[in-house]
Amino acid sequence: MRSIVPDYLTDALADVEPNMQGELAGYIPELAAADPGRLGAVFATVDGEVHGAGDVDVTFTIQSISKPFVYALALSDRGFAPVLAKVGVEPSGEAFNEISVERGTGRPRNPMINAGAITVHSVAGAEGLTPTERVDRVIRGLSAFAGRDLTVDETVCASEMESAHRNLAIAHMLRSYGILTEDPRAVVDGYIRQCSVLVTTRDLAVMAATLANRGVNPRTGQQVVDAAVVRQVLSVMATCGMYDAAGDWATQVGIPAKSGVAGGLIGALPGQVGIATFSPRLDAHGNSVRGVSLFERFASDMGLHVMEVPPAARATVRSDHVHGHGPAAMRVLEVQGGIRFAGAERIVREFVDAAPREPRVALDLTRVSSIDDVARRMLLEAVRRLTLDGHDVYLVDPESMIPDPDPGPGGRVTVISQVEQALSRPPARPENAS
Ligand code: GLN
Repeated sequence: MRSIVPDYLTDALADVEPNMQGELAGYIPELAAADPGRLGAVFATVDGEVHGAGDVDVTFTIQSISKPFVYALALSDRGFAPVLAKVGVEPSGEAFNEISVERGTGRPRNPMINAGAITVHSVAGAEGLTPTERVDRVIRGLSAFAGRDLTVDETVCASEMESAHRNLAIAHMLRSYGILTEDPRAVVDGYIRQCSVLVTTRDLAVMAATLANRGVNPRTGQQVVDAAVVRQVLSVMATCGMYDAAGDWATQVGIPAKSGVAGGLIGALPGQVGIATFSPRLDAHGNSVRGVSLFERFASDMGLHVMEVPPAARATVRSDHVHGHGPAAMRVLEVQGGIRFAGAERIVREFVDAAPREPRVALDLTRVSSIDDVARRMLLEAVRRLTLDGHDVYLVDPESMIPDPDPGPGGRVTVISQVEQALSRPPARPENAS
C-alpha cells in the first residue's frame, strides 16, 4: 500500500499552487532575488517518520524561525530567570520589526519580535562567550534540533547586514536601556548569522517535531532541550509566533507556529507531529501566503487545532469487583489507558463513593499505558488513605507503571504482577480473621 500522507500533501500543494499573492521580502536584497515559485510541505512525526511533497530539499535561510529554537537554547543554557529578566512573554500585537519595548523596564515584549530575539541571541550559550563562540553555540544548537550540521549562507548574511539599519537601531535602543550589555553591532551581527542558517523544509519539520516530541529529536534520539523548556517555547509560539496575526492564527489554525521572511513556516503539534512549509511570497505581516493557506487546510482537514477538545477518553475504571469472601476478600479495581489528573480523580472517587468493606484492596494497573506525575501522586495518596483505613493494599503493576511506589507516612503497599498472586497468598493480617 502507498502511504496516505504524501498523497494528501501533493493534493494540498496543488490546491494552493495557483495563488501568486504576496511579495518577496524586499528589505533584504538577496531574499528579493529568491525563486518565488518554490513550494514544499513536510510532516515529521514524533516517532521519526518524514513525509513530504514538493520542494522539500531546497535550501533557504531560516530567518525568524530560528527565534523559538535559540530561545530554547538560551533558556536551557542560562535558566529561566535570567532570560525572563531581559525578555517578556506578552504578545505585542505588533510587526516583527517594530521598535518597541515594555514601558518602564525597557524589556522587549517577547522573544519572537526582533527586539526580543536580538536580546535572546545575546544570552544564548554560557556566560562570557565571545560573539564568535556564541554564534558557534547557536549553530550547533540549531543543528541538534535539525539532526544534521547546518551552515550559514554568507551571501544572504552579508546582504542583510548591509541593510540592517532597523535591527541596529533596535539594538542601540536596547543597549541604552541596559538590556544589551555589549556592543550592539556585534550582537546584531550574531543575530543575523543566526537568521542566515540554511535549512530545507525537511530540516524545519524535524526541528518542529523535536519540539512536538518534548525536546527529543525523533531522528537522532538526542534530548536537545528539556520538556520544561519546550513548554515555554511552544507557549510563546502559540501566543506570539505569528506577530500581529497571532490571534487570527490561534483561532483558525491553532498550532504553535513560527514564520520566517525567506518563506519558511513551522508548526509543532505537541505529541503528534512537526509541520513545515516553504513558499517565499509573504503577506503584509511577513508570513508566507501559501504557507498560511496550507496550514489552514491542514488544521481543518485533520482536526489539528490544539484546542480541539478530544472526545472523552475511554472509561478509566474498567471494572470494580470483589474476589473471595471473609478475611480473604479482595476488592479489585481494574483501570486502563493513559491516566492523568481527570483519570486519577475518577479512580479516587470510586474508592470514596463505594468505600471498600473488604480487608484487601488491589488497584490493577495491568492495562494502563501511562501515568503522569499528578496521577501517580494522587494514586499513592489513595493507597496511603486506604492503608490508614485498615486495608491491605496491593498494586498489580507488571510493567512498573509506578516504579518504587512510596505511599508516604502510614501508607503501605505490596506490588504484585497478577491479581492471582495476592489471591493465593494468605491475608496479611490473620488477626482480622473471624
Ligand atoms: N533576519 C530577519 C530580520 O531580522 C528575520 C525576520 C523574519 O524572518 N521575520 O529582519
